[in-house]
Amino acid sequence: MLSLENTQATTESKLAQKNRILLIEDEDLIRDMVMVALEEEGYEVHTANNGRAAVNMLQSSKLTKAQLIPDLIILDLMLPEINGLDICRLLRYQGDITPILVISAKSSETDRVLGLEVGADDYLTKPFSMRELVARCRALLRRQRYSSSSSSSPTAVQSYRDISLFTQECRVMVRGIEVNLSPKEFRLLELFMSYPRRVWSREQLIEQVWGADFLGDTKTVDVHIRWLREKLEEEPSQPEYLITVRGFGYRFG
Ligand code: CA
Repeated sequence: MLSLENTQATTESKLAQKNRILLIEDEDLIRDMVMVALEEEGYEVHTANNGRAAVNMLQSSKLTKAQLIPDLIILDLMLPEINGLDICRLLRYQGDITPILVISAKSSETDRVLGLEVGADDYLTKPFSMRELVARCRALLRRQRYSSSSSSSPTAVQSYRDISLFTQECRVMVRGIEVNLSPKEFRLLELFMSYPRRVWSREQLIEQVWGADFLGDTKTVDVHIRWLREKLEEEPSQPEYLITVRGFGYRFG
């Protein structure tokens, strides 16, 4: 029994190497202890010691360095500049679904409930043991892996690399930030994402998105592709998502 548990722990700590954690905590001692404990488990840990620094880190990682977006956020509530509850609210308002583990000295039931109500996934009261913290992190990351791998089929979310499209909500997130698409742009992207790498001619796209009785010409497609590229691509002139297939049309991915 014991050896089975050990095997499982070893496998999980190997998996953990892929995971990046952002630790937002202003107390140096706790921050250092937590960081050491998580690094020993093989996690990549980034830290912020006040609320504003954390928000700046998160926003700039979304804008410029997608590879720095955390898989899990550990969040203290009492922070200078921007408090933990507001950070949590802000992230959820922006559609960010990164799991959040709140760690706080506030232990009353209301604080716990409030933390979960503004979108935190779990709550740990200080002082806590490092074992407990690591176990909670592991559980949250496992849950996230499960939900992201099970959300590909007929559910309402389609994801490809940094783009997620929420069919029923008509929302699109790109590198963690919501972008506004017109109804035609949305339909076009939805069609492309439903058939990755399939090549579509302009006529086929017109028929699928605008309808067979559309009277405009196929330049309309090119214009919409250009607009979509400006909203989706990091470098619209060198697209990575909406690819031109010379002589045929367009494909996605
Ligand atoms: Ca604090």
